[in-house]
Amino acid sequence: MSNCLFCKIVKGEIPCHKVYEDDKILAFLDINPINIGHTLIIPKEHYESTLETPDELIIYIATAAKKIAKAVLEITGAKGCNIGINNGGVSGQIILHTHWHIMPRFRGDGHELWKGNDTMYGEGEAEKLAEKIKNKI
Ligand code: AMP
Ligand code: ZN
Repeated sequence: MSNCLFCKIVKGEIPCHKVYEDDKILAFLDINPINIGHTLIIPKEHYESTLETPDELIIYIATAAKKIAKAVLEITGAKGCNIGINNGGVSGQIILHTHWHIMPRFRGDGHELWKGNDTMYGEGEAEKLAEKIKNKI
């Protein structure tokens, strides 16, 4: 994708602070981190989001994410991390090239994920919904 920012990073047309690279993936520091060490992992090949990415590549990214997250935690001294994936604009995905966020977390850093998870199911609604999803998988 000629117009994709992350494809340009892969091609070296835009610089990044690289932390890991191999033939399939690239990991680099997020330019606007939620905390120090916030790292992005991307496949070198362009896919619009994780939902369009081949399974083997997702497994590869997940395996790398575990390794990279451990290194980020050790180096930054973070006590935990969120691994986040936005899929589609409505979820907050701005760059339409698959990327996984590794976001180091520190006690009292003030970030709150999944704010407002206060939707309630009506009587019998969850049961029906779970059944419908189950039948679709
Ligand atoms: P998302 O909202 O999931 O699409 O996240 C895109 C992320 O890419 C944001 O956290 C940005 O800060 C980050 N980002 C945008 N441009 C760059 C860049 N040139 N280098 C590194 N990270 C970037
Ligand atoms: Zn791309």
